[in-house]
Amino acid sequence: MNNINEIQRFSFDHTNVRGERVLLNDAYQNIISRKEYPEALERLLGEFVAAIALLRDIVKIDGVLSLQCKGEGPLKALMTECDEHKNLRGIAQWDDTQAFPEQVSLKELLANGYLVITIAPRNGRRYQGIVELVGDTLAECLEQYFYQSEQLPSRVWLAANGSQAAGLFLQRLPAEQAQTGDEDAWDRFVHLASTVKDEELLGLATEELLHRLYHEEELRLYDAKPMQFGCSCSRERTLDAIVSMGAEEIRHILSEQGVIQADCQFCAEKYRFHKEDLDDFLGDQAQTH
Ligand SMILES: [Zn+2]
Repeated sequence: MNNINEIQRFSFDHTNVRGERVLLNDAYQNIISRKEYPEALERLLGEFVAAIALLRDIVKIDGVLSLQCKGEGPLKALMTECDEHKNLRGIAQWDDTQAFPEQVSLKELLANGYLVITIAPRNGRRYQGIVELVGDTLAECLEQYFYQSEQLPSRVWLAANGSQAAGLFLQRLPAEQAQTGDEDAWDRFVHLASTVKDEELLGLATEELLHRLYHEEELRLYDAKPMQFGCSCSRERTLDAIVSMGAEEIRHILSEQGVIQADCQFCAEKYRFHKEDLDDFLGDQAQTH
């Protein structure tokens, strides 16, 4: 139980309902250990990490999926990301001049903010979808997003406590995709999942949790897939970001400091670039101007 980081799919025989359960331990702890986050924000960031893990398994793409928000309230920005190898990373910025509020809606935390899902396939165009800030919680916003983007009734439960982050997802597929004779199945499964307490969602292994909820149902549990903390930063990508500052700015920093430093905010990897690393770029710029 102590260090499970995995996502597991399940379905119910003779119904059109499927589900996912994610449970994260050190993959989540690794993310929140990068900064001195207020406890309430540690929990919120955990909900986002659990959510991106669920989304990653639901949206089938070969690439990177991210969930991010920006706002003018106590929460300034938050970003979580998961790639096709199930590497998770995340980061948040907040207004540290005041106490981070405990019991307010995501909409109030963001104040004039927005929440967006970005799908970035390895080959193909990036796609962004706005997630409306409806309801009080991230889970409610995502339920609305699934309903609008896929026209599929979906329910999401998320929880995090600073040690574990977890999520549970149920979705009713179109009837023709499954043989249904059980009209009440969806309502029954949702009702049972709604009885889950945060301690159970965070504390029980998936098989145990689902057995507790659905031992009277014909549950089919698929293989668990491991997830882990992982950062997609690289020296090459960092160099691209530096080059985008422009030759003038780069020359200015090099003349003042002799080196350009860029530390990855997600994983704390330190990147250093000296003049010789940037000569090619600066040389080209000199010729074209
Ligand atoms: Zn990194």
